[in-house]
Amino acid sequence: MPSPFVIPIFIAHQGCPHQCLFCNQRSITGAAEGMVTGHEVRETILAQLAWPRRHPEAVVQVAFYGGSFTGLPMERQEELLGAAQPFLASGQVRELRLSTRPDYVTPQIAGFLREQGVGVVELGAQSLDDGVLAASGRGHTAAQVRTAVACLKEAGIRVGLQLMLGLPDDTTPTAMASGRRAAALDPDLVRLYPCLVISGSPLAELYRQGRYQPMSLPRAVALAGRLWRIFEAQGIPVVRMGLQPSPSLEKTVLAGPYHPAFGELVLSRLFFNQVRAALSVRSPYQSHRLCLAKADESIYRGSGNANVKRLVALGLLDGVETVFSASQPRRTFRLLAAES
Ligand code: SF4
Repeated sequence: MPSPFVIPIFIAHQGCPHQCLFCNQRSITGAAEGMVTGHEVRETILAQLAWPRRHPEAVVQVAFYGGSFTGLPMERQEELLGAAQPFLASGQVRELRLSTRPDYVTPQIAGFLREQGVGVVELGAQSLDDGVLAASGRGHTAAQVRTAVACLKEAGIRVGLQLMLGLPDDTTPTAMASGRRAAALDPDLVRLYPCLVISGSPLAELYRQGRYQPMSLPRAVALAGRLWRIFEAQGIPVVRMGLQPSPSLEKTVLAGPYHPAFGELVLSRLFFNQVRAALSVRSPYQSHRLCLAKADESIYRGSGNANVKRLVALGLLDGVETVFSASQPRRTFRLLAAES
């Protein structure tokens, strides 16, 4: 089954009275001023449904991104979710998804969302370390994340957890512990975002004063890879690593481990480590064939062919023929002794 066809609707800063240190929400989403109306939701869905789709059989979801949806006044939530109801009833849209803060979820809210056809709620957990949450001005605790996950699951809603790496006071041990706690909650999906210094955010001022130092890109890639492995070991999909690149985002990133293909850098590093480990223990007296998925060629090679250059420099590709095959499953490889 292909990935869902997602119709995104951005509701930046609507319903959010908080100011997390890292957030300048309008910069992150690229959303314009003004309140999204039910009419605009309907028009957006109609316009997107009218476009030809590469996979017409894909499940269609309408996703309210950007703000804290369940912090909106109830009449606004009803207006926005209500605009999608005719499409749910007709079967053109399978389900709704939205993002919100953990402390804005109660059993009543979860029940209401389920009634409205919401199938997935992504919680901006950011961390499950209370010290990091406090230092980042999040205004909620790790316990509230656990409670929100339990409420949503109880209502039959799938749960996504968004985690941020490199927040103030975050360290490798706190990030790893946070990842393990998040995995223990058994979410249906995870997103990992490195913390960036965004113009106009309180963090930008701390950075300017020298009181906050963002992670380097290599460190963020390495840490995201270690977290990815925690979730992979439990079969929890990490559906995104790094913010969606956009011209408005790139204009406002002052510092931090930004890369438009951050997720690919992480996967590439993980794959490189696996391939290197396998090549390191093969017999140097025997020729081998390294079979990789055709679709994995770019993550195998790495940016600028860097991974292959490293393997060559280490002498690990001597006597190895590399083959890219359409039948090899993604993110797997085989190292076969070649016929002599
Ligand atoms: S990150 Fe979310 S909760 Fe924090 S200020 Fe931005 S919109 Fe509000």
